[in-house]
Amino acid sequence: MRGGISVANNGIKECPFCGGKAELAEARTNYSSESYSVICTDCNVGIFSPKKNAKSFNGFSSAEDAIEAWNRRLG
Ligand SMILES: [Zn+2]
Repeated sequence: MRGGISVANNGIKECPFCGGKAELAEARTNYSSESYSVICTDCNVGIFSPKKNAKSFNGFSSAEDAIEAWNRRLG
């Protein structure tokens, strides 16, 4: 756990595996489309889209989708 960082971070819940802080990650592919994921800053677990339309970074097309998928994983 890192101190001093608010948990209310775009509505992203803490990591279900280690309880660490999860952050929104944004990547740009050579396709010019942006891709989003949520990744734990402590154990590097991330959530990725099952779709395979991104070459190198299989993320979500919107930040909201990535956050929602991450939070849903907790249930
Ligand atoms: Zn973690």
